[in-house]
Amino acid sequence: FFSSAPRIPKDAIFALTAQYKSDTSPVKVNLGQGAYRDNAALPWILPSVAEARERISNHKLDHEYLPILGLPEFRQAACKLAIGPTKFGSVASRIASCQSLSGTGGLHLAGSLIKACSSLKPQVWIPEPTWSNHHLVFSSLGFECRSFQYYDFERKRIDMNAYKKMLQNAEPHSIVILHACAHNPTGCDPTKDQWQEIGRIMKERQLFPLLDAAYLGFNSGSIDDDAYAIRYFINDLGMEASVSMSFAKNMGLYGERVGCTFVVTQNAEIAENTESVMERLQRSEVSNPPAYGAKIASMILNDAKLTEMWYADLITMCSRIREMRHALYNLLVENGAPGDWTHVTSQSGMFSFLGLPRDIVIKLKEQYHIYMAENSRISLAGLNTSNVAYVAKAISECIRA
Ligand code: PMP
Repeated sequence: FFSSAPRIPKDAIFALTAQYKSDTSPVKVNLGQGAYRDNAALPWILPSVAEARERISNHKLDHEYLPILGLPEFRQAACKLAIGPTKFGSVASRIASCQSLSGTGGLHLAGSLIKACSSLKPQVWIPEPTWSNHHLVFSSLGFECRSFQYYDFERKRIDMNAYKKMLQNAEPHSIVILHACAHNPTGCDPTKDQWQEIGRIMKERQLFPLLDAAYLGFNSGSIDDDAYAIRYFINDLGMEASVSMSFAKNMGLYGERVGCTFVVTQNAEIAENTESVMERLQRSEVSNPPAYGAKIASMILNDAKLTEMWYADLITMCSRIREMRHALYNLLVENGAPGDWTHVTSQSGMFSFLGLPRDIVIKLKEQYHIYMAENSRISLAGLNTSNVAYVAKAISECIRA
């Protein structure tokens, strides 16, 4: 029955991780997958998460099903985090929300919801470049995926002209994917002024913002700063919007699949109806979302002391990443690596989009055991005080050779 199954190549970044793991070199460096590592190159369990885990296990943790829409106090706290405490009260009744299988499941659910019960066009505008899964998630749901030029490769900054041109020409009621902060892979976000310009055009042209919020707090260390775009579109412009939140990076709960997806609708009745559709969609796909990670996230978001601890953890992660950005930049310059490297420090978030040609990326892997995505995006979390000099030297040597 399955003789017509095609052979699909493995996901590039997961395949790269597997290659890295099987490399026996003692100098190997993994700059591929976007998962935070501490200065000893180890996964880091956030102290706030460790404390929440302990409290949960002391509370006789059970393994019962969650409701179909997920843990209510988690969904509420997640939406409040995104909208902000001052405006949440005035928006809450118009929100339809559902716990999701991390950010990916949230985007999928948002797409299914749009298809199931909205008057939006099944046409999604996706920045180029973007996180590789955006095209897969939306094309698998039958959306027509269109790319727009987001990044000016020459100047190493956002191509606002191309961006605005797309917004001016997109069909009304089509959907635009917006990375809420820490754009993956470029590390280049719109400034506040640019967000305002984007928002104003989108509102005028009746385009629908689908905000992918995978790095809230992880970008700058401050939720308020990182939620700027979400709050501008929803609170200031009063737009209907969809937000898919992931707690993979900002709480280090990668494998627990903790996410929340919500839409802001026109009124309370529409929100209730929309939420009932989400519930039906969730029932048919996952039935009940995973409980453990949601309990941890909920405990952190609903307890003042744990929230403070989490904010400090965000600063710890952001600061180490920022230190590595500056160390890499300084060492590239010290090693005389040809070219201008200022983009390494002007970008933000987990990644640096180095701008290396493919043959150098391959050479770094084959000769120096340094693994990075083919487009030369590196996860700065893979750098530490023991390997950053080696990486900078290797890049410099490869370019000069
Ligand atoms: N969106 C973007 C832009 C991402 O980079 C990621 C993680 N790599 C996600 C969404 C979702 O990840 P997850 O499903 O692990 O939450």
